[in-house]
Amino acid sequence: MANGTTRREFLGTLAAFSLFPLEQEKPELILYNGNIWTVNDKEPRAQAVAIARGRFLAVGSDAEVLNLASPGARKIDLGGKTVTPGFIDAHSHPAEAGLMHLRMVDCDLRSISAIQAALRERAAKTPAGEWVLGFKYDDTKTEEGRPLTVADLDAAVPDHPVHIQHRGGHTVYANSLGFQKAGIDEKTPDPPGGKIDHDPATGKLSGRVAESAQAFFEKAIPQNLTRDDHREGVKLISKMMAKTGITSATEAAGTPTDLRAYQDAHEAGELLYRAYCFINGHYLDEMLAAGIRTGLGDEWVRVGANKMVCDGSISERTARLSSPYEGRPNDYGILVMTEEELYTHGRKAHLAGWQIGTHANGDVAIDTTLRVYERLQKESPRRDPRFRLEHCTVVNDDLIARIKALGAIPTPFSTYVYYHGEKMRYYGAERLNHMFALRSFLDASIRPTQASDYPPGEFIPMMALQSEVTRTDIKGNVWGPKQKITVEEAIRVGTLNGAYASYEENLKGSIEAGKLADLVVLGRDPLKENPSTLVTIPVERTMAGGKWTFES
Ligand SMILES: [Zn+2]
Repeated sequence: MANGTTRREFLGTLAAFSLFPLEQEKPELILYNGNIWTVNDKEPRAQAVAIARGRFLAVGSDAEVLNLASPGARKIDLGGKTVTPGFIDAHSHPAEAGLMHLRMVDCDLRSISAIQAALRERAAKTPAGEWVLGFKYDDTKTEEGRPLTVADLDAAVPDHPVHIQHRGGHTVYANSLGFQKAGIDEKTPDPPGGKIDHDPATGKLSGRVAESAQAFFEKAIPQNLTRDDHREGVKLISKMMAKTGITSATEAAGTPTDLRAYQDAHEAGELLYRAYCFINGHYLDEMLAAGIRTGLGDEWVRVGANKMVCDGSISERTARLSSPYEGRPNDYGILVMTEEELYTHGRKAHLAGWQIGTHANGDVAIDTTLRVYERLQKESPRRDPRFRLEHCTVVNDDLIARIKALGAIPTPFSTYVYYHGEKMRYYGAERLNHMFALRSFLDASIRPTQASDYPPGEFIPMMALQSEVTRTDIKGNVWGPKQKITVEEAIRVGTLNGAYASYEENLKGSIEAGKLADLVVLGRDPLKENPSTLVTIPVERTMAGGKWTFES
């Protein structure tokens, strides 16, 4: 739908469709007696919806909608429960995360002893000598207040090689057998761009390796994933996301394999959220040769933007900043692509009609990326290119004005303030007022999205709401209070704005006649909830395309 005419024609059909519902369709399902928050300005609240063939046929009061019921229609009493549109996670890595959940131990635990127990349990079910793999370990979150060591891992799992990925994706931890299998000993030199840590007292391996040194393990761990494994990964993460109220997600660094996995899962009836699958930059030539570009697909599996990466990460403190990290006066973070590289690659995608999504966290990276986008649009103007700034974390007034002028879309981390509060001190109080800057974006009439970046961030939409509304972490520290937004705004950011970011605002993102029947039934009303307990609101049911994808 990147083409203007197609979109206008599509809009036309939608309008006609909603004007004459009864002549075309009979409701298959009616949900009534609800407190429905539609995110449609023309009709913000409703009590009931009628659904047929996966779309909303009518939205209105109980009397209006129940009046449409034909004898065959199923009716469900919502019991006054609050309903919102289905949530859209506009930047995450679900296909990859699903595979990890399938094969690896989830190490998002609050003590080293709990991690040891989980690894021990997995080892007991794993043939001796085979790898025990873990992921989502976070050195800042265990009660021991120190990182995992070789000794911790050897004590838990002596007879299997162990490999554990840090949640941020830039460091890994291993036991003695793991190092042996990877061909690393105490004398192995650091590879270029990588680091093998040693205990400063004894000179022995500490257990941690960083950046390019991770490649030793990548070579040693068998990558025998089948086509079915990839489909199973999507199936698993589908269930996890549906449970939290997500009905759409963007695969933010997708590959042709991910695209196939999505199609396989959809065909098998296992895909429970609509996937907007970005394609990593290095596959661009293959895509161009096949005539594939943004928008190809259907409302379940669609080709998303071409992905580029400009700088490092927020959680592991490598984003490229104009002023240094707190307490590290010479550390400004890193740029991973030059402006010229971004331009050359971006131009190819832009001219071929692709949307572009560039990872840019720090203000220097955002400035660089915007300069590239501005140049592309000046040299080769395209109507409505919807350039995306993935993460777009640290901003200032000048950057905001340029984002607005270009019509670009920021996708800031939604749950970081709440979930990763302990990492915020590296940025400092003043800078935090310019980070994950939803208030500034909304005041400038920019359309930011909800985005988890899972696995690095949590994807629970109710957590996103709490984080964005309170700017308060789990321990009660407030970070960047000037960027607080209201619950109503946060819901719109998490629904309609997400649809806009994938050119699908006429298809989904609000509860309106003609749109896809994607919604969430909540246990309590977020608009009446104390903001500090939003995260505890239970999701009772999730619906995508008129079918329940989760029921509690
Ligand atoms: Zn990401």
